[in-house]
Amino acid sequence: MKTLNQLAAVSALLMCMLTVAAAQDVSGEKLVDTSQVSEVRPGVYVVEDRHQVLLVPNVTIIVGRDAALVVDTGLGPDSGRRVLSLARRLAGTKRLYLTTTHFHPEHGFGAQVFKGQATIIYNRSQWDELNKKGSAYRKLFSEQLGVAHALKDVEFVPPDIIYEREAQIDLGGRLVRLESVGPAHTLGDQVVSVPSEGVVILGDLFETNSFPIMPWFPQIQDTDVDPIRWRAIFRSVEQSAPTVVIPGHGRIGALADLQAAAEHLDFVSKEVSARCAAGQDLAAMQSELTPILKAQHPGWDLSNWIAGEIQVFHRRLCSTASTQ
Ligand SMILES: [Zn+2]
Repeated sequence: MKTLNQLAAVSALLMCMLTVAAAQDVSGEKLVDTSQVSEVRPGVYVVEDRHQVLLVPNVTIIVGRDAALVVDTGLGPDSGRRVLSLARRLAGTKRLYLTTTHFHPEHGFGAQVFKGQATIIYNRSQWDELNKKGSAYRKLFSEQLGVAHALKDVEFVPPDIIYEREAQIDLGGRLVRLESVGPAHTLGDQVVSVPSEGVVILGDLFETNSFPIMPWFPQIQDTDVDPIRWRAIFRSVEQSAPTVVIPGHGRIGALADLQAAAEHLDFVSKEVSARCAAGQDLAAMQSELTPILKAQHPGWDLSNWIAGEIQVFHRRLCSTASTQ
């Protein structure tokens, strides 16, 4: 799939920390396309990325009797304006809320256009992480990924509400649950769910039919990814038996897709642990495990992230093993 392969290319770019600025600004291609909206459950709308455009996330809008919640904004104010306009079309004069799954630019850097238009809600750890890392990510994306134009007017606006671990929003006949679950993909990962509809929104904790995106960017002091807690989050989400699993990127999934992703994490964790115990080094692990994982999931995207995933597990599991 084009988008996810392109994301893999982004990973390579970030990991290699290329210093050559992108030759062409492609911000215009990164706009959320709100012309097509899928109603995945009554009153639950998703603007899908449709695997077509790099750095465009799935955006969800949940509409209740009295209010609507927008989850994620797209990359920068221009996408944010499109999403806000769509939310207004879907919700009419109802009160609007906005939250974002995590601080990464394509998910939350359009939030400023919602200020004064919607009640903006963040979990504490996401807001803290945005303040700590947001500027570095903005610089990196602007300089390396050709989206300087999309990000040039970005401001980080303070939320109207900050919660610690869990919150609920009553949209009128429909409760939405917000849970601060990180650290996993980021320190401030948030899971948003609509229990009455069996819907869960996982941001980049989950990409359907894809190897996981495990950010490991010591060059910008971001090594907070936690694969062990990540697996625990999947376990918790699985217990709620969702029927619609909305990923950060890629097609909308089901519980079986989430279970496949969880089994993959279990396999990598077990393999890395065993290989650590046997004294295998990271390079050999990556060399041997990568073809095995590709063969297990020949249809999965983002295989370029496998080496990084093994490194992250190695960092967490092998350092523990060496102290035992
Ligand atoms: Zn992300």
